[in-house]
Amino acid sequence: MSLHEAMLYTRLENKKVKCDLCARRCLINDGGTGFCLVRKNNGGTLHSLVYAKAISACVDPITKKPLSHFNPGALVMSIATIGCNFRCQFCDNWMISQEKAITGHHFPPEDVVKSARDNGCLGISYTYTEPTIFMEYAYDTAKLARQVGFFNTFVTNGYMTPEAVKTIAPYLDAATVDFKGGADPDFYKSCSAVPSVQPIFEALIEMKRQGIHIELTNLIVPKTGDSIEKIAQLSTWIKDALGKDTPLHLLRFHPDFQMTTTSATPMETLEKAYVAAKNAGLNYVYLGNAPGHPAENTYCPNCNELVIKRYSFEITKWNLTKDMRCPVCGHEIPIKGKLHPSGNTHPYALF
Ligand code: SF4
Repeated sequence: MSLHEAMLYTRLENKKVKCDLCARRCLINDGGTGFCLVRKNNGGTLHSLVYAKAISACVDPITKKPLSHFNPGALVMSIATIGCNFRCQFCDNWMISQEKAITGHHFPPEDVVKSARDNGCLGISYTYTEPTIFMEYAYDTAKLARQVGFFNTFVTNGYMTPEAVKTIAPYLDAATVDFKGGADPDFYKSCSAVPSVQPIFEALIEMKRQGIHIELTNLIVPKTGDSIEKIAQLSTWIKDALGKDTPLHLLRFHPDFQMTTTSATPMETLEKAYVAAKNAGLNYVYLGNAPGHPAENTYCPNCNELVIKRYSFEITKWNLTKDMRCPVCGHEIPIKGKLHPSGNTHPYALF
């Protein structure tokens, strides 16, 4: 098993350590592992057990993250290791996020970057499982990627310490931060084994301070995590703390892992949530996992002109001026980067 000394931990007495990467801040005895199972204390030194050990590598359209206002059309090399700091009962990547055996392909940072280039990608995305728990691997890859002109994006549950955000920030261009159940603390406790949601809000504020492009998702889980009131409250927080132009993607749940008897989110619920988020003052609200729905598109918040039409991961119509303005009223639409008409909208796996 390969060992790589961890970032962001504190040595304590009796060879104990405290991990400061995610908000669990695990206290780990000599010989023990943290909650995520991929960080081990060996004689008072904390090691990552998954450095350069990718369980998955895929070429994805950036829309899949989802990132709708960041380099639209670009392809990204997506990588993940096993492990997670959450235990979501509905996880759709549970086979890798909840894997207990340390496993994966040797895929060092330089190979990730080379593979990204060979496959026509413009950036690297650290995704599928929680990138915070493989921070050392992500950090070294992101640094190398930036040197050759690639961008980096995290898809994260946001349960990071402010120190972790500050550490990766110099190389992190964008983050998709995934909420579930309208950020209801009871939902997080019962369905994801997460004691508090507050650290996610703090991490988001730090990301904003660091100038990272942020897009948010919220998974709407029928019955247990579909409160429209909570979605309205979350939307209001987003508007006040991050700004009304922050994109919010409301995601349709589908049955998976330990929640196979819960049915998919009814469209009616998604549409009510959409109205609540818009009424809270957010300019860019999207419905995700709802191919063909008009709320996949971007509309000008000033005159309601359709400016970007999408079907699932595909951009089917681009109706913005070269300086990213609405062609009818001239309102500026916040898009970071530029359009990359790669034409490839089908994810494919390297392994
Ligand atoms: S990253 Fe892992 S070891 Fe570190 S605090 Fe989080 S769960 Fe614990």
